[in-house]
Order: sequence, then C-alpha cells, then structure tokens
Amino acid sequence: MSLLQVRDLAVHFGGVKAVDGVSFDVEAGEVFTIVGPNGAGKSTIFNLISRFYEPSAGRIVFDGRDITRLQAHEIAPLGIARTFQNIELFDHSTVLANLLVGRHTARRTAWWQDVLFLPAVRRAEVEDRRIVEEVIDFLELQPYRNKLIAGLPYGVRKVVEIARALALRPKLILLDEPASGLSVEETQDMAFWIEDMQKDMGLTVLMVEHDMNLVSRVSTRVLAMANGQPLALGTPAEVQKDPAVIEAYLGT
Ligand code: ADP
Ligand code: MG
Repeated sequence: MSLLQVRDLAVHFGGVKAVDGVSFDVEAGEVFTIVGPNGAGKSTIFNLISRFYEPSAGRIVFDGRDITRLQAHEIAPLGIARTFQNIELFDHSTVLANLLVGRHTARRTAWWQDVLFLPAVRRAEVEDRRIVEEVIDFLELQPYRNKLIAGLPYGVRKVVEIARALALRPKLILLDEPASGLSVEETQDMAFWIEDMQKDMGLTVLMVEHDMNLVSRVSTRVLAMANGQPLALGTPAEVQKDPAVIEAYLGT
C-alpha cells in the first residue's frame, strides 16, 4: 500500500476553489514533487495534509490510517513533518533551541509531568538532545548550533527549517519550496540534502518546488497542477513535455 493516499481532495475558500479534486499516491521512498504556477493550490495541499485546513471533500490516508479528520497536533506523532514556504522559526532563539522546542512541542507531555520532572520526562529530554544533535551533524549545522536564527544567512535558515522537521523523525517530510530564494550553489546543496534524506535516511519526500533543474534531478514523480486541479502526473521528463503543462505555464 502507498505511504500516502490523497483522494478527490478539495477545499474552497468562499468562491475560490483552491484545491478542486486532486488525487495522488506517494510510495514509500519516493521524492514526489508538486509543481504549478503561483496560486495553483500546492501549499494548500500541504496545509490539508498537515491538518491546518479542513477539506471540503476527499480523503487522506497515511500509512494505512485515515487522517482526514485528525487534529493538527496528532499529525507529527504519526510520522509527518513539514517545512513552510515562509520560514517559521523563532528568530531570537538559537538553532539548537529551535530544534529542541520543535521536538518538545511534538511530544506534548502533560504540564504536570514537566513540573514534576518525572524520570520519563528526563529520559525523553535526553533522547530529544541526542536526536537533535544527530540532525545538526547530518545537515552540517555545527558552525551555527548556538547562533541566533535572526543573524543567519537566508540559505542557512532554510536548512535549519528542514532540520526542525527532521528532528521529529518523520517517515514523510513535506518540503514547501526548499530552494526558493537560494543561490545556484545553495540549490545544489539542497539537492544533495534531499537525495541524502531519501537514500541515507530512507525518508519519503513530498515537495513543492519551482526550480525545474532541482525537480528533474531529485524527483521520482511529478504532479503538475493549475487552478486547484491536476494537469499531469508522471516522470519529470513526461510532465515537462505534457502539452497541458506547457500551456498552463505559458498562460501565466
Ligand atoms: P500555491 O502554493 O500553489 O502558490 P496556494 O495553495 O497558496 O497556492 O493558494 C491557492 C489558492 O488558495 C490561492 O488563490 C490562494 O489565495 C487561496 N488560499 C490559500 N489559503 C487560503 C486561505 N486561508 N484563505 C483564503 N484563500 C486561500
Ligand atoms: Mg505555495
């Protein structure tokens, strides 16, 4: 069975059909990429999967479980983590603190456990540290470990945003435009990180991205959308030469 199944998904905001009948499956181990012009509904699909938005119709199944009606805080423990198109980190905290807070929030121990500092909580905190340090090493963030987010170059902040998601130890990671705003060289590095996540960490990646060089290089399959609707699904090469896709891009 596919790791993620999206069926006839739709959400309407007033009169705007932001996502209007989208279906796709993501197999374990894939780098599955959604492309499309601005306003196509790509980020909205992420917001539906991470349960920030309530779908008007359709179904989302992750790892054999229907998650369509779960609450947002129930998603990370199942093994889904995400990044945001506009980086969402605490600017006045360090890289380390951001990653620890991310794990702590996802763990959601009851307040009284934290107050009593029970052994279970202490063990969990040791575990949090270990995992966070592992992610810092993996993404080569050691030089920035104790630096405030606000002082970091944009390209590094993009990597920290990914680190925060990886620290949740997901099975599926959702990357919303990981290369936007990055230089050519930083985009190359991002391609390596994505390949490492897939090949070394065994993660499944669902990505939204505009940079077609990056998309072609790392994606197993691509879904092209416009105006909330699917246009084409296939390998990067197939989708890039699809007439409906070419027209959607030329038309904007
Ligand atoms: P993309 O990520 O493909 O550029 P989005 O998914 O962000 O596009 O947006 C798709 C459409 O849905 C746009 O028309 C956008 O204005 C609309 N939209 C997204 N979120 C909301 C919201 N919370 N309220 C109203 N409209 C929204
Ligand atoms: Mg978007």
